[in-house]
Amino acid sequence: MKRIPHGLSFILALLFFALASQAQEQPPKEEGAFRQPELVELVKLDKTIHLDIRYATPHNFVGRPVYREARAFLQRPAAEALVRASRALRKQGYGLAVFDGYRPWSVTKLFWDLTPADKKQFVADPSRGSRHNRGCAVDLTLYDLFSI
Ligand SMILES: [Zn+2]
Repeated sequence: MKRIPHGLSFILALLFFALASQAQEQPPKEEGAFRQPELVELVKLDKTIHLDIRYATPHNFVGRPVYREARAFLQRPAAEALVRASRALRKQGYGLAVFDGYRPWSVTKLFWDLTPADKKQFVADPSRGSRHNRGCAVDLTLYDLFSI
């Protein structure tokens, strides 16, 4: 068997790690037929939805803002479903407070990188991406319309 010279194996190892780390810096590639993305801003569909975008403040587990603006977006079908839920809940005396919707993949990657190994089950693996990255997950709570 012919051996690879030591210097060449070192360069191959560097190349491998460079490619491997580069692969970690990109959202996962997905095959298939997908609808065209159409992110819509929630408050433009329903002005009664209250926003509490903690990731635009230092009051989150990162300890600093990761969004420049306190806004929330979802893909149109998810946003319209949320508006229907909001309208139904208002009739029962509840409002919706949204903490997060669409989340850029780079933020998911940041969360993953900052989370200790024993807490990774609480954050999405960026190699798979998350429903937030796809604009179809929303973090929210209910509030009593008559107690605010
Ligand atoms: Zn979530």
